[in-house]
Amino acid sequence: MRRRMAKRTLNPAAGPRTAAIVVAAGRGSRFGGDGPKQYANLAGRTLLRWSVEAILAHPAVELVCCVIHPDDQAAFEEAIAGLQGDVTSVPGGATRQASVRNGLESLAALPAPPGRVLIHDAARPLLLPSVVGRVLAALETAPGAIPAMAVVDTLKRSGPDGRIAETVPRVGLWRAQTPQGFRFADILAAHRALPQQEFTDDADLLQAMGQQVALVEGDEALLKVTTASDLVRLETLLAGAREPRTGFGYDVHAFGPGDHVTLGGVRIPHGKGLAGHSDADVGLHALCDAIYGALAEGDIGHHFPPGEAAWRGADSALFLRHAVGRVAERRGTVLHLDLTLVCERPKIGPHRDAMRARIAEIAVLPLDRVAVKATTSERLGFTGREEGIAAHAVATLSLPVLS
Ligand code: MG
Repeated sequence: MRRRMAKRTLNPAAGPRTAAIVVAAGRGSRFGGDGPKQYANLAGRTLLRWSVEAILAHPAVELVCCVIHPDDQAAFEEAIAGLQGDVTSVPGGATRQASVRNGLESLAALPAPPGRVLIHDAARPLLLPSVVGRVLAALETAPGAIPAMAVVDTLKRSGPDGRIAETVPRVGLWRAQTPQGFRFADILAAHRALPQQEFTDDADLLQAMGQQVALVEGDEALLKVTTASDLVRLETLLAGAREPRTGFGYDVHAFGPGDHVTLGGVRIPHGKGLAGHSDADVGLHALCDAIYGALAEGDIGHHFPPGEAAWRGADSALFLRHAVGRVAERRGTVLHLDLTLVCERPKIGPHRDAMRARIAEIAVLPLDRVAVKATTSERLGFTGREEGIAAHAVATLSLPVLS
């Protein structure tokens, strides 16, 4: 298993460490086309990249392990090129079940294995953070949970002559989707215990161990691309008009006692600290407000009320990931983030590249879509007197019209 980037930091309030496995090792014989369907193009991105970005858009997910076919290493690298984030790959096995097992074992071998795991099919690209949220929430009370859609069509079973043999009552019938979520130790134990038996999905495997799996509401657009016409359906769904949105954010934090400041997600040693309820990262707070502004969805204080115990000393990366997740929930795209920090000291220049890389990682963006600038205020005003640091940010988004 190859590590690409440092681990994402997690706020303890977000629950146990969460990893995701994206299954992308199949050959997709029903799909046709030039190659495996997970590398097919949907609105400029491969299905695999859509899926990885969608999983990473949920704030709880810290790392993604893609299970790929050994022949696809180059295609995989190309598919995730430029993505800042903890995305790794392991080779798949002979079956989907064996592939998932390989992913689970690679996570089990980490110094700190996750507490929860999401197992997602790369061929379901249009995953919303809210679906991930419902699956993870259900894991509070069940060892497994899957998104599913209630069957609404009348169901018929055919006879050998091609005519209807019977009508099947649809009451209590659901169409299973992914990501399927599990408490990590439970699903790992199930895969290890029953490697010889074939199961239709991971929920089925966990149930074979006598464990409960909860159903949560899925999403109609979370369909699995199986044939070329499925891809056309998704293209149509995404082809609606889009509009640019610009948002502005501004924040100030005062200096207080301490030996470091956190700016743009980077810890910088300094003779003072910044006062605030969270880690007081004035740069990330301004970026959050810029994104919330572009969405017209309130501000950071609305989503994370100051004074709530959960956010005391919190890593502000959590706030930025929430803002980015709201963009994903609207099926929008962050096009660009531009941050300006105003202070006399500490000097920002030596840390600029680290800040850009960290912001790109948190926001799941290529590095060339993140700018960090700095200026002094020529010793004028509160920043000039070194009483605090100010930050200005602009976010540019693309959103579906009427979203
Ligand atoms: Mg603030």
